[in-house]
Amino acid sequence: MTTDKNNQEADASEEREYHSASSGIFFKLKRVLYRGKSPYQKIEIIENEYFGRILLLDGLVQTTERDEFFYHEMLVHPAFVTHPAPQDLLVIGGGDGGVLKEVLRYPIKHTYLVEIDRQVIKVCQEYFPWLSPSLKDKRTELVIADGREFIEKTERTFDIVFVDSSDPGGPSTSLHERDFYKKLKKCLNFGGVVVSQVGSPFYHLESIKKKNAFLKRLFRNVCFYMSPVPTYPGGSWCFVFLSDEIQPLKIKRDPPRGLEYFNLDIHRAAFSLPNFLKHLGSGF
Ligand code: SAM
Repeated sequence: MTTDKNNQEADASEEREYHSASSGIFFKLKRVLYRGKSPYQKIEIIENEYFGRILLLDGLVQTTERDEFFYHEMLVHPAFVTHPAPQDLLVIGGGDGGVLKEVLRYPIKHTYLVEIDRQVIKVCQEYFPWLSPSLKDKRTELVIADGREFIEKTERTFDIVFVDSSDPGGPSTSLHERDFYKKLKKCLNFGGVVVSQVGSPFYHLESIKKKNAFLKRLFRNVCFYMSPVPTYPGGSWCFVFLSDEIQPLKIKRDPPRGLEYFNLDIHRAAFSLPNFLKHLGSGF
């Protein structure tokens, strides 16, 4: 996948993320708000004239103020409009708080936010205004832990689990593996759903195919869907909806008002895959 070693070769007035050896995305720096290293990764918050504040981990864009809603709404709302009565939730990763913000739009009982890196939470609380109110919500329980270890130890079970991890190759490598999903399945209530980000359908097709191969043996319904995300590699992203009981096109409720991207037409369209992806998933 991408590396940020080339940034040093670029001039200091811009941040570059390479999506291939010869292509990528760049952001002219209006300001560098934070640059530091945690035990897990390099953390940067930069400000760009067009996209606003941008969180990068190990040089890879995680979220920007201007387009975060594409990704966060498309990761969260498909599971909520199809699950009969989601009450107990788990968000793994998601330290920027974007997923949590969407989850708390619903009348849920409780959600965990299990993030490995306390420094990401601290920095995002300072620079992304939406995080603190979500963490203060009495339904939210923040746990600083490795998502894989958390699901191995927890005795709680969940209606919906969102895996909003960074790309494989950093601290999240284990969250992209078969064993993690096998253990995650044991934490689901009957009728439970898992939704994960699985990468760029263009740049990360091989890793998506590899995931598809083991997910199809773990879950009855393996349904990939896509969404544009302007600042992510290739401008589009792929997600997977996993459940033994729930079918993603059987809508149970309307989404909340005030969303900027997601609606039920977008939901139905997102599961219609282009030919080079059509063979993926369990089909429905
Ligand atoms: N939307 C982004 C993407 O698709 O690349 C992900 C955003 S979110 C900031 C990713 C979070 O996952 C980071 O805060 C990172 O620290 C966290 N993370 C990485 N590995 C983890 C692990 N093993 N357990 C829990 N959180 C993890």
